[in-house]
Amino acid sequence: MTTVDTADSDTSTVRGLLERAEDKRLAGDYRAGCELARAAADLASSTGDAAGEAAALRSLATQLMRVGRQEEAISACRTAVVILEGLDDRIGLCEVLTLQAMPLIELGMHDEALGVLAVARDIAQELGNRELLYWVHNRTGVVRGSMGDRELSTESLMLALDMAEGMNAEARFCILNNVSDNAVYEVTRLRGRGENDAAERVLTGALGYVAEALRLARDARHPFREAISLDNYGMLLALAGDLDGAAQLIEDSRLIAVRAGYSTLESAALQHQARVRLMRGEHSEAIEGLRLALDRAHTAGEKPMAMEISRELSEAHERIGDFVAALAYYRDFHDLERELHNQVAAARARMAAHHFELDNVRLEAENARLEAELHRARSAELAADNLLWQRQATEDALTGLPNRRSVDDRLPKLVAAGGPVCVAVADVDFFKRVNDRYGHFIGDEVLRRIAAILLERAGETDLVARFGGEEFLIALHGSGIDDARAQCELLRAAVAAYPWESIEPGLTVTLSFGLAEVAGPASLPDALGRADQRLYDAKRGGRNRVCAG
Ligand code: GH3
Ligand code: MG
Ligand code: MG
Repeated sequence: MTTVDTADSDTSTVRGLLERAEDKRLAGDYRAGCELARAAADLASSTGDAAGEAAALRSLATQLMRVGRQEEAISACRTAVVILEGLDDRIGLCEVLTLQAMPLIELGMHDEALGVLAVARDIAQELGNRELLYWVHNRTGVVRGSMGDRELSTESLMLALDMAEGMNAEARFCILNNVSDNAVYEVTRLRGRGENDAAERVLTGALGYVAEALRLARDARHPFREAISLDNYGMLLALAGDLDGAAQLIEDSRLIAVRAGYSTLESAALQHQARVRLMRGEHSEAIEGLRLALDRAHTAGEKPMAMEISRELSEAHERIGDFVAALAYYRDFHDLERELHNQVAAARARMAAHHFELDNVRLEAENARLEAELHRARSAELAADNLLWQRQATEDALTGLPNRRSVDDRLPKLVAAGGPVCVAVADVDFFKRVNDRYGHFIGDEVLRRIAAILLERAGETDLVARFGGEEFLIALHGSGIDDARAQCELLRAAVAAYPWESIEPGLTVTLSFGLAEVAGPASLPDALGRADQRLYDAKRGGRNRVCAG
């Protein structure tokens, strides 16, 4: 049992864990690989590393499958599919779907396997990716074979074999091994139909392929690949009539399987050894071997294999005339077939539940995203509302100047900031006439232009506000009364000199100013009162003038 050593610096990263998981996979140590890949997936999930999680789940699925945990492998694939869809990673998606076909085949869920492969094939073709297409053909061949359709299987596998030229050792091994495995069934089928020449051609070709596969497995020092190709090699040698050679290779395969804990391969080797004994006519030894294989298959929960072995046991007993035992095993075979059927149905139901869960996860993620978006939009709207409200509360809508309420707030602060302050109240002369002659619309425009003229000439720390109606307030900061009077004069002259005729022919606009100095914060109301009186003076004195005091 390999434990995950958290003290190792590599284990702190998803990539580090995943690299180690893949090393284990390449070495055929799938149990340790599963643990490392699971740790990588969990870490990636908790840190929101979607791509890392998908990669870890793929490694996990591959290795779960090798140790017979097919349903878990399918679940891992499905979770990876959801993640990869989210990332819009088409290549990754195609690879995972192709991978998912394998555990589906092992569980006898052929239709589902063909379904995921059809989706994968479409993606591979759409991407024009040769390597992806190779894997799709390869796996399609395996499904067809396990469905018993050897002709279609051979067709897909041969397509894949052609495409494997120049690909990496793993890809080449995989197709060479699958072609030779398929050939065992194909040779038996052809011989059964009396097509002996065709059978010999397939057998000769397959012996070449399996020898190459075994060489690749040994070069890669990969025990799983070595065991599986030894087993296939043995079965092909048996069909070629070399029963001693066959027995030796299959025993080599079995020993590797026992050492590494490849339960499926161990059961297969026992079953195949018994077949070789049957070929030799050693019926009772064969029956003994088949019984042992049956035990192993039952212990490992491998129903398809147990079913096949039961049928072979029935046939073996029939051959030696033990019809009672033959019938008993035949019944077992039937019971297992029915159980397998139920098991597939139950697995389907469990997987549908998992699919449902995944859909829920998808929906929840989508809901959370929408909710966050809504929240963002609402906050932005609220902030905008708030800003608008604040502006409406303190700003005059017509001129954009601060309003009276704002003056009440800001003027005392301006005075409290220190330094001399003068306040001026400026009132438009005969403004009623402007409205009467030119209309309110022009009157409004006049107010806006006056505001712009005043604002443009005011100092940075001065305050220009609309006091109400056609009255403006100008607070001059840092100026004594004389300085302030001069500044008001400039403002008055600027308004009088403005080309008002450009708005309406005959339009003239002037301002009268009442100015007073603020002695201190407490005297602000008094200063405003005096400014108002001086404005009255200015009006009485003939308008378009500044009165101070
Ligand atoms: P005076 O020189 O004595 O100040 O004469 P006046 O006509 O300016 O004074 P009065 O107080 O008689 O008239 C002020 C006019 O200003 C009356 C009002 O309709 C107009 N007024 C006040 N606020 C606005 C505004 O927002 N838009 C427009 N177009 N007119 C306004
Ligand atoms: Mg007026
Ligand atoms: Mg007025």
